[in-house]
Amino acid sequence: MKKFILGLAVLSTVVMKAQTQIIAHRGYFQAQPPTTENSIKSLENAQKLKIYGSEFDVRMTKDGVLVINHDEHHGEMEISETNFKELEALKLSNGEKFPTLKDYLKQGKKDPSLKLIVEIKPAKTPEIENEITQKTLKMIRDMKLEGQSEYISFSLNICKQIKKLEPKFKVQYLNGELSPEQIKKEGLDGMDYHYSIFQKNPTWISEAKALGLITNSWTVNDPAIYQDLKNQGIGFVTTNIPDQLKNK
Ligand code: MG
Repeated sequence: MKKFILGLAVLSTVVMKAQTQIIAHRGYFQAQPPTTENSIKSLENAQKLKIYGSEFDVRMTKDGVLVINHDEHHGEMEISETNFKELEALKLSNGEKFPTLKDYLKQGKKDPSLKLIVEIKPAKTPEIENEITQKTLKMIRDMKLEGQSEYISFSLNICKQIKKLEPKFKVQYLNGELSPEQIKKEGLDGMDYHYSIFQKNPTWISEAKALGLITNSWTVNDPAIYQDLKNQGIGFVTTNIPDQLKNK
């Protein structure tokens, strides 16, 4: 009996650990050869890795075009204050054209096994945030990518707006100040926090799991930190080194 219980304990630990899934942060750009983050090529690289998902950042130009870029600026140009035509004149550092959300989703659709982790960036006003959110969800529905997409944001307004428009879509909050209980109360599906937040709040991963929330952490680029989160049973990590973590 003792052996059986020990066996069960070992088995459950193995199963628990096996559940941690890998998400490429801004695509897989630290590849061989390296490429530009948030480029179509970085998404293509992630598709070849056979991991859970690939994350990217959505912003809106002055004339309402949804584009993929992490920073507020593309070169010297502030995206929200510049029309798409001007932005497009500047290529990415890997020679690709400045990607729109539509370009990105078209590439994503080629591999239904890779989830698209859509980060909608906070904007200057809640009204603009709501417009970006509504347009992003419409494009995802129009392209029939509802089942392949999940959402993250630092803006609580954006997170709640997504749930209001599409209650079934999975939404995780990024900013880190809400406890698992508060995330649940806000009606969100999970927390995707910087790993230092989980280090400061060592009970949050297990509490979140007990509440049925998704647990995710960014940006985990150190195998030792990955191991620690995995030992706590975290569901997902978002990383710049998906190739190194996927078999650990
Ligand atoms: Mg991001």
